Amino acid sequence: MNKEWKKIEDVDLEGKIVFVRVDYNVPLDDDKIVDPTRIERSLQTLDLLINKGAKLILASHMGRPQGEKNPALSLKPVAEYLTRYANEEVPLICDYIEDSGAGVKEALKDHRVVILENLRFYPGEKKGDIEFAKTLASFADIYVNDAFGTCHRAHASMSGIPKYIPGYPGLLLRNEIENFSRLLDIKDEDRPFICLLGGAKVADKIPIINHLLECADVIMIGGGMAFTFLKAQGMEVGASLVNDYFVDECNYLIDKAMRRGIDLVLPMDVVVARGVSSPEGINVEVDKIPPDMMGLDIGEQTQEVYINILQNSRSIFWNGPMGVFEEEPFKNGTVKIAKAIAESDSFTVIGGGDSVVVVNELGLADKFDHISTGGGASLELISGVNLPGLAALS
Ligand code: AMP
Repeated sequence: MNKEWKKIEDVDLEGKIVFVRVDYNVPLDDDKIVDPTRIERSLQTLDLLINKGAKLILASHMGRPQGEKNPALSLKPVAEYLTRYANEEVPLICDYIEDSGAGVKEALKDHRVVILENLRFYPGEKKGDIEFAKTLASFADIYVNDAFGTCHRAHASMSGIPKYIPGYPGLLLRNEIENFSRLLDIKDEDRPFICLLGGAKVADKIPIINHLLECADVIMIGGGMAFTFLKAQGMEVGASLVNDYFVDECNYLIDKAMRRGIDLVLPMDVVVARGVSSPEGINVEVDKIPPDMMGLDIGEQTQEVYINILQNSRSIFWNGPMGVFEEEPFKNGTVKIAKAIAESDSFTVIGGGDSVVVVNELGLADKFDHISTGGGASLELISGVNLPGLAALS
């Protein structure tokens, strides 16, 4: 995939200004960065560009300010974080569209790195406005995209800027694509390829399962989305989460799996309770869910079966928790699965989102081959979508 991309390492950057689109949409609590992983993962690219003699304009979005300036969604905490990392001031530049980049130019006289205030303070960013992109492009000589987490969005700073100045993928972006390529173009020696999908939103995962049925050997389903599949099989699932709109689609996927000889494995038993705040759950078989109870985790037998399948794999892709892992009585399935994948000798990839939260909480992050920085982007990529941010670099 994208083998023709030119490497930024091979470009002469001495004295050049590089516009680096990063994804610094990091979780904040009262102006404090809760998890700086996305910033840390981009530092390798920034160091490379600086060492090659470039000056950097960093740009990112933060949250959803709806095209308006909102101090609560400022990138100030990120500028402060970078200032501490670099041991030199990384100024935050505001009103850069209003002054057509004059403030950026001025700041770059005294600083090697500046960061633009939240791109989404301007409506042109999300609209993919070409004039907005052109103005941003006019600030720099070269564009580098290291914002994998935003590559599924055709926003101005993602797909517009490289229309005007030469665009290259950053190191983080290349690393993401290299790891996902291994799964998208799976070799016989990397099989069995096992996919484990969980979480609540069945609608988001249907296109992925449809695509994975073309290349995976086994697909195992957990989490809230499993109940729409179980309902499609004619099961009574009590008060469990079901999206009736997608029951037919689930049936189609079950049929497709059978036609293609791929195992689409659903839970055999689940942990049920009256609600997420119940102090404990009861383990029942999936055809015995009481009408007033909801399934909130995969059951013990299911855990055993899933772990056994994982132990006999060579490649694993995991996205989404097996249950309501945020609540103590319903986290067991997710924790056991995370540990089993961590202990596996397979090539292991986590596709962002809540699974990453669990793995970090358990201190298992370094036991995985790849943990993606982009939940939505990685799901679209693995569904076979040509992401706009990547297409713009070709
Ligand atoms: P998603 O964004 O689709 O990956 O969903 C993640 C969310 O799914 C988490 O907040 C979990 O608490 C939730 N979840 C997982 N299993 C269940 C379940 N059985 N019923 C309801 N919600 C669930």
